Amino acid sequence: MDLKRTHYIGDLAPSLKGQKVTVGGWVEDLRELGKLTFLTLRDVTGVAQIVVVGEEALRQVKGLNRQSVVRVTGTVQETKARDFPFEVKSENVEILSRAVHPLPIDPIGRLESNIDNRLNARALDLRNQRTASIFKIRHHVLQSIRKTLIDLGFLEVNTPKIIGSASEGGANLFSLKYFDRQAYLAQSPQLYKEQLTLGLERVFEISSFYRAEKSHTVRHLTEFTSVDVEADFADYTDVMDILEAVIANVFDHVEKNCVPEQKALGIEVKRPKTPFARITYKQAVEDLGKEGIMLTQGDDLQDAHLRKLGELHPGFYFLIDWPMKLKPFYIHEKEEDPETSKSFDLQYGYLELSSGGRRLHDPAKIRSRLVEQGLNPDQFEDHLRAFDWGMPPHSGWGLGLDRLMAVLTGIDNVREVVLYPRDPERLSP
Ligand code: ATP
Ligand code: MN
Repeated sequence: MDLKRTHYIGDLAPSLKGQKVTVGGWVEDLRELGKLTFLTLRDVTGVAQIVVVGEEALRQVKGLNRQSVVRVTGTVQETKARDFPFEVKSENVEILSRAVHPLPIDPIGRLESNIDNRLNARALDLRNQRTASIFKIRHHVLQSIRKTLIDLGFLEVNTPKIIGSASEGGANLFSLKYFDRQAYLAQSPQLYKEQLTLGLERVFEISSFYRAEKSHTVRHLTEFTSVDVEADFADYTDVMDILEAVIANVFDHVEKNCVPEQKALGIEVKRPKTPFARITYKQAVEDLGKEGIMLTQGDDLQDAHLRKLGELHPGFYFLIDWPMKLKPFYIHEKEEDPETSKSFDLQYGYLELSSGGRRLHDPAKIRSRLVEQGLNPDQFEDHLRAFDWGMPPHSGWGLGLDRLMAVLTGIDNVREVVLYPRDPERLSP
């Protein structure tokens, strides 16, 4: 059976007038008007009007449910329709797959469906042009990130997601049965990416990671996509510059390459001004004090505090130089101020998009930091061994792709920008 098409619908144009074409897709609308039936046919690239004529073809499409899949051969011709620059006249419609009626959601979006119903019928939801646009943009974002990092000399790597020991302490880890042993799902590639700088110098990974947190927020999922970077011969400000370039290029690329998608979503993406403001943790605590939020230097910033900072700084900004005691064991101190770390979060308003910093590369220092944080250095011996083999100084960051997508599309809930999101309640589809 021949399933080939001569054209994607998006490639049809009035200039093809008189030409015979074969297109295929799903029926978005169908209007039967006696001797004619108008089909609105969509594929992933566009939408066209098909005029069905001829007894046999009309009998075929009579009563056909919307969203059914057809293949149409016909001739491109001028149209009187206001919404289309041309139409395809056809006596030959093959019905390849019939959709049921009623469908669980209306993918045209005439009837609003709530997010749970849409996620339960996600494949069908992707025939909604708003939803499809989100994932077309996501593809472009990934493409842009890869290009920026590869151009900067980074090598893309894949680290294990099934791990044998709790890499960063043990909280928030999903455990699983690994034959007759205990294993965990990786919450980050942190330790691996650091080790990889030893031989590959500059690495990045784009992958799913897992956090067993019962968070019911619009920014937390139990499975999320992280963009991770680690670079040797780089201090934390160097990898902040890289993060800034990655973000600015993403916005630039989407602005230029996702015009119809921005239109479908009603958004206008613009490259943000760089460099992003760099605000120290100390300064942030002082600024909060002026707003009536009294914190002691060294306190962690809670959601309400970040909300207030977000009001003061609505766009992108770095929160830098956090107290050592608020940061994980692998973070490097500032040489001139050992209570303070060479660390940063990239914020968009209240929302944390990324965390990073300079890492310790002296194994003795790492061991004493582990003890300070109540962790057992013996459990990290596999990792710490690598630090005796000539570990270069290095810095890096992890960027939440789903949160970046939410910011880029102006959508609050990360569930909207993930195909099949996982949260404490949702485990399928
Ligand atoms: P938060 O404090 O917002 O829970 P975190 O500080 O625990 O985040 P990191 O360990 O710093 O997160 O991870 C790096 C980045 O990965 C975060 O800045 C965020 O963008 C993303 N991220 C982390 N956890 C999640 C999650 N559960 N769901 C979605 N994205 C996440
Ligand atoms: Mn963080």
